[in-house]
Amino acid sequence: KYQSYSYERMLKIREQNVSPALRTFYKKPLLLHQGYMQWLFDYEGRRYLDLFAGIVTVSVGHCHPKVTMAIQKQLARLWHTTNIYMHPSIQEYAEKLTLLLPDPLKVVYLTNSGSEANDLAMFMARLYTRNFDIISFRGAYHGGSPYALGLTSIGPYKHGVANGFGCSTTMLPDVFRGPWGGSNCRDSPVQTVRKCSCSEGVCHANDQYIEQFKDTLNTCVPKTIAGFISEPIQVQTGFGRTGSHFWGFQTHGVVPDIVTLAKGIGNGFPMAAVVTTKEIANSLAQNLHFNTFGGNPLACVVGAAVLDAIEEDHLQKNSEDVGTYMLLELAKLRDKFEIVGDVRGKGLMIGIEMVTDKDTRHPLPTEEISEIWEDCKDMGVLIGRGGLYNQTFRIKPPMCITKKDADFAVEVIHTALERHMERVAAK
Ligand code: PMP
Repeated sequence: KYQSYSYERMLKIREQNVSPALRTFYKKPLLLHQGYMQWLFDYEGRRYLDLFAGIVTVSVGHCHPKVTMAIQKQLARLWHTTNIYMHPSIQEYAEKLTLLLPDPLKVVYLTNSGSEANDLAMFMARLYTRNFDIISFRGAYHGGSPYALGLTSIGPYKHGVANGFGCSTTMLPDVFRGPWGGSNCRDSPVQTVRKCSCSEGVCHANDQYIEQFKDTLNTCVPKTIAGFISEPIQVQTGFGRTGSHFWGFQTHGVVPDIVTLAKGIGNGFPMAAVVTTKEIANSLAQNLHFNTFGGNPLACVVGAAVLDAIEEDHLQKNSEDVGTYMLLELAKLRDKFEIVGDVRGKGLMIGIEMVTDKDTRHPLPTEEISEIWEDCKDMGVLIGRGGLYNQTFRIKPPMCITKKDADFAVEVIHTALERHMERVAAK
């Protein structure tokens, strides 16, 4: 036990002096002390398998030795100048990053957060096109800054203050919860069990969603949108996490004009980026654009070390292998438990959608989901939550997780589901 922390004191300070908008969600919030790779340790020395990775930010592992070494080396040399001087780290990082991106995505802007990156992307799209309207998907999260919040389409993140003018939302294709069913991606190892409304093996759901999109276009200024923004899969897909590809957008076979990167880019170090084409970049270069901390040497060496670690530790391949394995194991739980409505995912991003029953697909009440979730924590597995009704367990661990860890996690979830059924039966 790490005696220097008093749990009660930390809780009191948090209640008095830290943003009350921050929710901890667990009944007894975790007080963390240390992390190593896929593991977290609390102040009493309890170990947790981290399946949420700081909301999918810790890509290569907590305190990954390579990243830690890179930052320690840079820490003693130079943290910050400004971008009016050159430092090799920014050039080297920009080159390294763009080598991983398809043409013509070659110009990098470094920012400090995902919201900031999306703000900049919106700004560029508007400048370049000289149009204003931007469309996003319902259920999307694109950030909490007043600009990006207009694109975010999840009620609880809205605050009843006008924001995001010129933003419209369109319907998210959703084979499980959407009105038309449909089939998962052809290469998905797991298919939804929902019976599809399409007939004779022909899926019409796609056409319906395209019609919805056209309808949304008709609500914007005619023929003049500035852009359409989308997470490749809701939510965080980059840096090899989907297994089959390095970037989420590649799973759809498209090359966007602007790509924003955050979360896993720095393995937890605050940094993000926008990458675009020379032509679009030129529209911002007509006048000055500047970001004090974006591209500081510390962030750049971290970013480069993260890319190296992904390659050297074969983390994209690991995401594919362990992710697919886990997905198939979790699908067995879906087949066993009526309340596990859907298990879906790609690589190491997996969603488990909890329902009252598979026919109605009503979200399982929050209190019941919370009990299962809390039980997993008590057995040493941290899982994320998400979905419009907070009905989906999110599994997005550091990409260094092993099959043995996956077995442990599935067993814990299995036990938590069984205990839930026992509680229900005892009522
Ligand atoms: N887009 C997505 C898909 C995200 O998951 C997040 C963060 N949850 C953001 C944007 C905003 O990033 P940040 O919190 O770094 O501003």
